[in-house]
Amino acid sequence: MTDNRMYQPNDKSPLQIFVRAKKKINDIYGEIEEYVLETTTFINALHADAEIVDKAERELFESYVYKVAAIREVLQRDHMKVAFFGRTSNGKSSVINAMLREKILPSGIGHTTNCFCQVEGSDGGEAYLMKEGSDEKLNVVNIKQLANALCQEKLCESSLVRIFWPRERCSLLRDDVVFVDSPGVDVSANLDDWIDNHCLNADVFVLVLNAESTMTRAEKQFFHTVSQKLSKPNIFILNNRWDASANEPEFQESVKSQHTERCVDFLTKELKVSNEKEAGERVFFVSARETLQARIEESKGNPPHLGAIADGFQIRYFEFQDFERKFEECISQSAVKTKFQQHSSRGKSVSGDMRSMLDNIFERITIFRNLKLDQKNLLTERIQGTETQMMQVTREMKMKIHNMVEEVEEKVSKALNE
Ligand code: GDP
Repeated sequence: MTDNRMYQPNDKSPLQIFVRAKKKINDIYGEIEEYVLETTTFINALHADAEIVDKAERELFESYVYKVAAIREVLQRDHMKVAFFGRTSNGKSSVINAMLREKILPSGIGHTTNCFCQVEGSDGGEAYLMKEGSDEKLNVVNIKQLANALCQEKLCESSLVRIFWPRERCSLLRDDVVFVDSPGVDVSANLDDWIDNHCLNADVFVLVLNAESTMTRAEKQFFHTVSQKLSKPNIFILNNRWDASANEPEFQESVKSQHTERCVDFLTKELKVSNEKEAGERVFFVSARETLQARIEESKGNPPHLGAIADGFQIRYFEFQDFERKFEECISQSAVKTKFQQHSSRGKSVSGDMRSMLDNIFERITIFRNLKLDQKNLLTERIQGTETQMMQVTREMKMKIHNMVEEVEEKVSKALNE
C-alpha cells in the first residue's frame, strides 16, 4: 500500500446519479416495507372475523412482507459492475489499478491472473480476500502478499476471488463500483461458463487491447458470445500501451486511425451494439502503466508527469481521464436502468395490488356494516312496534278496567237505590 491519504468524495461525479438513485429507492422501499407490515398486522387482526378476510388473502398479504424484504436486501447490495477482458498481458490489471489509483491487483510477469478477481469496497477500513464458496476473510497486509496468495492458489480459471479494499481509499469503490479482472481470453475454452458466471450482471465491459498489435479472433469471439447473451452490452475499447507509439511518431496518426476504424467497425458492423457516433466515443488510446505511475506520484504530492514513460504523456493522461468520465456516465445510467427500473416497477405493482385488495376488503366491510345497520334498524322497528302494541293493550286494558269499574259502580248504586 503506497499511501494512506483518504479519498475526498467528488459529488460532481456522474456515479452520483447511481448513488442518489440507490439511496432514494432504498428509502422508498423502507416506506413500502413499513406500509406492508402495518397493513398485514391490520389484516391479521381482521382475520378473526372470517366473514371479511379469508385465509388465502391473509397469506397473500404475508407473502408481500417476504417479497419486499427480499427486494430490500438485493437493493442494499446492488452495485455497478465493470468487467475487463482481453488477451493475457494486454494490461487489464494495470487498467484496473490505474482507475483505483493504487497497485492493488498484481500485474506483470509471474502474476498472470489465472482466475477471476473482483475488487470491491469494504467497510471498516480493512483489506481482505475471500475465495469462492468460503466465508473466511483472509487478511491482506500488502500487495506482495496478495499477489502470492493469488498465484499460489490452484484456482480454477472460472472461479472467483473477491478482494475487499477499503472504500475510503478510492472514490470508485466508495461509490459502489465493482471491478472484475479476467484471465486472458486466449487461455480459456469455457467462454460460455465465464459469461454465465461473471458477466450477465455486468453493466459495462472493457476490452483491453494491445495497441502494438491488432485485435485477435479470440478477443472478437468473446464479445460475439457476450452480445448474443446480452442485448446491447455497453462495451468500451482501450488500446493500451499507447506509450509505445511515441517511439515511432511518424506512424502514430495512421496507426491510430487504422485501430479506430477497426474498433468502430467491430462495435457497429460486427456486434451491432453501438451506432457510429457512440462507438467513436468508446474507443481510447491510453497507457495504463503510465497513468498508474502518474497517480502514485500525485498521491505523494508530486506532479503526475513524473510517472511518464514516453513523450506525449499529457495527451495519453487526458485520454485516460476522458475514458473514465465517459465510463462513469455510462455505467451509472446503465446500472440505474437495469438494477432499479425493474425494482421500482415491482414496488409499484406490490403497492397497487395491496391497494386493490384493501379496496375490496373496504367494500366488503361497508356491505357488512350496512347489513348490521339494517339488522339493527329492523330490531328497533320491532321494538317500537311492540311498544305501540303494549301501549295499545295497556290503553285497552285501562279502558276495560275503567268500564268495568263504571259498570260495577253503576250496578252498586243501582243496587243501593233499590
Ligand atoms: P493483464 O495480464 O492483462 O492483466 O496485464 P498486466 O496488467 O498484468 O500487464 C502486463 C505487463 O504489461 C505488466 O508488466 C505491465 O506493467 C505492463 N503494462 C501494462 N500496461 C502497460 C502500458 O500501458 N504500457 C507499458 N509500457 N506497459 C504496460
